[in-house]
Amino acid sequence: MGLEKLWELQELQLGLERIQQELKNPSQGKELKREKERLESYYTQIQEKKRKGERLQEQLALHENTCRSLEVKKKDTEAKLYSGQINNPSELQNLEQQLTHLNKEISVYQEKIKELNMELQEVFGWVKEHSQIFQGQVGEYQARLEEYRLWREEREREIQDLKLRMEKLEKELDEDLLRHYRELQSRLGLRALARVENGCCSGCRLMVSIILMQKIKAGERVQCENCGRLLIP
Ligand SMILES: [Zn+2]
Repeated sequence: MGLEKLWELQELQLGLERIQQELKNPSQGKELKREKERLESYYTQIQEKKRKGERLQEQLALHENTCRSLEVKKKDTEAKLYSGQINNPSELQNLEQQLTHLNKEISVYQEKIKELNMELQEVFGWVKEHSQIFQGQVGEYQARLEEYRLWREEREREIQDLKLRMEKLEKELDEDLLRHYRELQSRLGLRALARVENGCCSGCRLMVSIILMQKIKAGERVQCENCGRLLIP
């Protein structure tokens, strides 16, 4: 009656369904999406740190400029003070005060420059270290992405193969039996065919009556009295 072939068809259908579900909701794909988002936020973090370093560099250049012009002023003041041309005591005192003030300012800027240099070193050190880590992780991500792409391709090939085998089987099956099976599937889902195992219907786990068992053995087309599935010995 072709029930074994019908069983084979059902197994193929179930296999197809399983693969289609995997493709629809792939855990690998979700993980990769999360990893991509993490990498993007990591990249942003590194770029922000880099920009911070650039701002510090600008600040450093400004301070170095200020420091240089203070040094020039200091030299001019010293030249005037020690030129021997100024004899007015109050003017001399004034120049000395200016010099003291300039020295103080210069040392304040030198301190700032030292601090900025230290901070810059730390910031760019961090950027360098994390850029390397990031590059490595991007490489890993791309390899996994490629693996995932191949996995999907393989599943697609499996689907094509299953469909071909199903078509072939359907041609070999009795048309009326196939129609009946499809009609049952529309109500019961894919598993419209159930094996009798230890006297029970494997679809609903209830006992199959002796009368039905005899009919099955005689090769008749029998449905489970409880769940309606076609029974196969
Ligand atoms: Zn049943």
